[in-house]
Amino acid sequence: MNNQEIINMGQQYVMNTYGRLPMALVKGEGPWVWDADGRKYLDFVGGLAVNSLGHAHPKVAEAISRQAATLLHCSNIYWIEPQVKLAKLLVENSCASKAFFCNSGAEANEGAIKLARKYAKKNLGPNQYEVISATNSFHGRTLATVTATGQTKYQKGFEPLPPGFRHVPFNDLAALEENIRPQTCAVMLEPVQGEGGVIPADPGYLAGVAQLCRDKGLLLIFDEVQCGLGRTGKFLAHQHYGVEPDIITLAKALGGGFPIGALLAKEEVAGAFQPGDHASTFGGNPLATAAALAAMEALLQDGVQENAAKVGQYFKEKLSGLTAKHSFVREVRGLGLMLGLELSIEGKDIVAKCLEQGLLINCTNGNVLRFLPPLIITEEDVDHALAILSGAMDEVQSA
Ligand code: PMP
Repeated sequence: MNNQEIINMGQQYVMNTYGRLPMALVKGEGPWVWDADGRKYLDFVGGLAVNSLGHAHPKVAEAISRQAATLLHCSNIYWIEPQVKLAKLLVENSCASKAFFCNSGAEANEGAIKLARKYAKKNLGPNQYEVISATNSFHGRTLATVTATGQTKYQKGFEPLPPGFRHVPFNDLAALEENIRPQTCAVMLEPVQGEGGVIPADPGYLAGVAQLCRDKGLLLIFDEVQCGLGRTGKFLAHQHYGVEPDIITLAKALGGGFPIGALLAKEEVAGAFQPGDHASTFGGNPLATAAALAAMEALLQDGVQENAAKVGQYFKEKLSGLTAKHSFVREVRGLGLMLGLELSIEGKDIVAKCLEQGLLINCTNGNVLRFLPPLIITEEDVDHALAILSGAMDEVQSA
């Protein structure tokens, strides 16, 4: 099928929940993808932080096909070898002691909220259930996670929303302190806000939040679904800030493209879940965990994180060069290869022009161009992307 045939069939049969660009991707290799008409694109969206290892990574592909030919699905009423190995790897590379596996970022956050409430009921107080999160945050689309999400545009029409959530401005410690109430049990934050416009926590903010949580006896949850797993140049984004949360949520890049989510917790907190408390039929299944194990080993062993830090720095400097050339560029921000360019105009025309020229980029929050390329890109890939981006911005400037 060509692009148009796929689009026509999709418009007829697939629910209309996404504003999609007019093409279908059919193949990928490294940082490159191809559409159904055979056009090639440099991918600086990376499945919105999913394809951190690039497309069709040979180690991930091999692990998936080997596992698929061995055992496809068994249930969590038995032990699963790749699941326990993945748990070990994640624990050894974080401040957590135990892992729970699920199938998406929203499901990981949903589990984190349940774990925090369960822990609070047993250890804090019977009426501590409220989760404080940040305005502008994004935590998912299930009812609890969309309520934790700090942007009303995602919540409209789905009321009544579940009770027990409260929002405070991001990067504002005083506002957080003022909003802690007797019923608060946890604070949930993205160390670098993604959908909200690529906004890193200010230096000192997360350490202040962690101290406040310790003082008030609250749990600290970091949503690392988008910013975690090498994206910022360290395994987890909060490791830039010298703080330790009680609960960490992961998804997106974890499976090297295969769907899987995870919830990590410190020993004492993890112990609040006992057999029967929380479950997922597909969570941690052999195929997903074999894919994730291969992906995480490649991320940690093949210098991928180090590359994200180095090429990210190069990319950020090059983006900063654009601020001088284009009056509508307000700010360049981000860490590693999670970068944003805030504009004083809407970003969608620039995204469309880049697409025409063979570069995939994304725009979030209306006016922030967001770059989440595979972490294996080179400085030459950045130069190639910048040439297209800069040309697109020139055209928009002169129009
Ligand atoms: N948390 C964050 C920080 C995210 O960026 C996202 C997805 N954009 C989610 C949670 C939800 O993940 P999923 O779409 O896998 O449910």
